[in-house]
Amino acid sequence: MIEVKNLVKKYGSHLAIDHLNFKIEKGKIYGFLGPNGAGKSTTMNIMTGYLGATEGEVLINGHDILKEPEEAKKHIGYLPELPPLYTEMTVQEYLDFTAELKGISRDKRESSVEEVLKLAKLMDVRGRLIRNLSKGYRQRVGLAQAVLGFPDIIILDEPTVGLDPKQIIEIRELIRKLAKDHTVILSSHILAEVREVCDYIMIISKGRLVASDTPDNLEHLMDDSETVEILAKTEPSRLREILSSVNEISGIKTEKRADGTTYAALEVKEHKDIREKVFFAFAGANCPLLMLNTNRASLEEIFLELTQGETGSKLLSAEREEDETDAGDL
Ligand code: ADP
Ligand code: MG
Repeated sequence: MIEVKNLVKKYGSHLAIDHLNFKIEKGKIYGFLGPNGAGKSTTMNIMTGYLGATEGEVLINGHDILKEPEEAKKHIGYLPELPPLYTEMTVQEYLDFTAELKGISRDKRESSVEEVLKLAKLMDVRGRLIRNLSKGYRQRVGLAQAVLGFPDIIILDEPTVGLDPKQIIEIRELIRKLAKDHTVILSSHILAEVREVCDYIMIISKGRLVASDTPDNLEHLMDDSETVEILAKTEPSRLREILSSVNEISGIKTEKRADGTTYAALEVKEHKDIREKVFFAFAGANCPLLMLNTNRASLEEIFLELTQGETGSKLLSAEREEDETDAGDL
């Protein structure tokens, strides 16, 4: 459906897109996930024919977006980061105008506009000037213009940025509705959003695709970085001594607590379950083990690791719990 081959984009000497390759299949919601500056907007602008590439090609249903832009663009509806809304027009005027620009035949224009007005729940504000609409409504107008003419692929660049929580929920519902009949590609720097909405995640960092898979598979990808967390009533040095008999442990990070206990994160080789061995090691040493816990890497950690390039630090730190509370705000 969409094929991106060896895509490169340079701004001067700055390499914004670094040999991107991926395919988009029909009927799913795809998420481009990456921190600001990763190259999401640049990629989307190239895929939709708004921007030329330095190298590589983009095929939309077999049509090269640069060589056959008219044919390729028919298949795509695009909501750019800053949608080109004409704020002195009413919603209705703007959508009529867009329908004309998109080459929707005269006899179908009215019904097409009606359809997207309903879909984006804009019926009540159709006569209002765009400049008087709230950010949430404007975003819906942007979505409506993207969907107009019912292209089979809808590309949305950070569709929920700047919206309040209620508006975000509404836009997400709309995206899910769209996905019933369209292939949707959206970008976001917010992991929680992509995980919630998308069937497939492509993580982009510094212009490169660093991972692409379903949310579940991405979590499995990191299974080998499983850690076991323990809390024992002893000093860090003694804890290490006790654990020296457990061969499967490849790394230990300890943190001495003020109450005389030691917290430790144990890195485990090849996904082995070492809990029993750890228990008996401490029991044998007559040392109280106060907590024993297995942790699989969360998608948050995968995202951070892949986008920050900290491949060395698979072992989780003692700040883990704080990290998890923060994750709710992402
Ligand atoms: P994202 O959408 O993921 O935040 P962008 O595609 O906007 O990332 O940007 C990717 C990189 O390219 C960034 O380093 C950004 O500063 C740079 N960049 C984007 N647009 C331009 C431009 N018009 N001129 C120069 N550099 C740009
Ligand atoms: Mg962007």
